[in-house]
Amino acid sequence: MGSIAGLERFDSPGKGRALRVTRPFKVGELLYSTPAYTFVLSLNERGFNCEFCFTRKEKLARCGKCKKAFYCNVKCQVGCKDWAMHKLECSAMIAFKENWCPSEISRLVARILAKKKTKKERCASEKILRIDEIQSHVEDVDNEKREMHEADVFGLHRFFSKHLKLPDHKDLLTLFSQVACNGFTIEDDELSNMGTAIYPDVALINHSCCPSVIVTNKGTSAEVRAVQNMKPGDEVLISYIDVLYPTDDLNNRLRETYYFTCDCRDCKNKSKDKEKLKVRKRSDPIEPEVISNMVRYARKTIREFRAVKHTKNILSELLEMCEQSLEEMGAVFDEANVYMLHVMYQAMGVCLYMEDPEGALTYGEKIIKHYSKLYPPFSLNVSSMYLKLGRLYMGLERRSAGVSAFKKAMAIMEVAHGKDHFYLTELCKEMAQK
Ligand SMILES: [Zn+2]
Ligand SMILES: [Zn+2]
Ligand SMILES: [Zn+2]
Repeated sequence: MGSIAGLERFDSPGKGRALRVTRPFKVGELLYSTPAYTFVLSLNERGFNCEFCFTRKEKLARCGKCKKAFYCNVKCQVGCKDWAMHKLECSAMIAFKENWCPSEISRLVARILAKKKTKKERCASEKILRIDEIQSHVEDVDNEKREMHEADVFGLHRFFSKHLKLPDHKDLLTLFSQVACNGFTIEDDELSNMGTAIYPDVALINHSCCPSVIVTNKGTSAEVRAVQNMKPGDEVLISYIDVLYPTDDLNNRLRETYYFTCDCRDCKNKSKDKEKLKVRKRSDPIEPEVISNMVRYARKTIREFRAVKHTKNILSELLEMCEQSLEEMGAVFDEANVYMLHVMYQAMGVCLYMEDPEGALTYGEKIIKHYSKLYPPFSLNVSSMYLKLGRLYMGLERRSAGVSAFKKAMAIMEVAHGKDHFYLTELCKEMAQK
């Protein structure tokens, strides 16, 4: 079995296999970096990023056959063997034309199958955990999810069977549920989705709402850095989800997607819930029933917004939805309440789409006031918000406010991404411009 210096696999009581450090690590120190077993660029990013190394730049070279995939150069297209992956899609895209529409998870599964066929020996990305050892939780999958996986299996047969000999239905369902709970989203510096990857040695890391490490990407590789000082024997823990929300919401989400309940310090004593659910100060205190009704309303609003976000194309209607619910919730909730912050974040996103920087800034400035208090130290949610604000200020020629926001983002990114990450070099250039 392979190994990574300073780390070891162990069995954690109640959680199963886990990862811990065997030597001390300081905040910001790299525990390890690992290439992806396989990865796929999101269709939305096509034309902006190289399909192979994810570099974002202008003037990418187009695949001469399908004219749909883009690369830095011939080296990324052919020299690095991306053809083995791209050929799964290239001729099918030509044949199906605009009817070619596999889900991202089907595209990733096709790549895993192609990789498994060619790689008999251990892959560089699976030093501690083999791809086949990744948990699937297939026995926990409910009907709704099973139907989704069935649709993905159908998509796999429809769009990929020409180049792949597909395993039987049961094995495919297992593979889809493995990827559903272990697929890792690759995001850019503002947390926009760029693609999905599988990292067996990251899949080994368990969850905590007060994580000891953070995973970032350099191209398509994953890097794991300490965000707390760690001593030998400490478990390596990341957050699987956005930890902004109250304990019950976090654990509902963890159960739905990953089939467990968190027992971290914050979840056990629900210590942050009061702050997260902050209510308005009034001379006569607000009745608990009024608060719990408003929490129900907030959860319903969040679900509804999520459902219509991608279907409604009238942005002003989306913004109106946000404003209405902020008004409704604002009668009971303080502006620091996480449900208020959630809706403000959505509203900010809509403003950015509408190319209304002032509107986006108004929401962003309110959000950032509370974010750094609610998130754990060195959170990418906080650094990405500072980046968005910095870029908005710079665009509005409010240079000093922009530089100040960029510096706050950098202080977090130096720990999370490492001082030599190209995001930081790029940011220095952005600060020097204009
Ligand atoms: Zn490239
Ligand atoms: Zn092509
Ligand atoms: Zn927790």
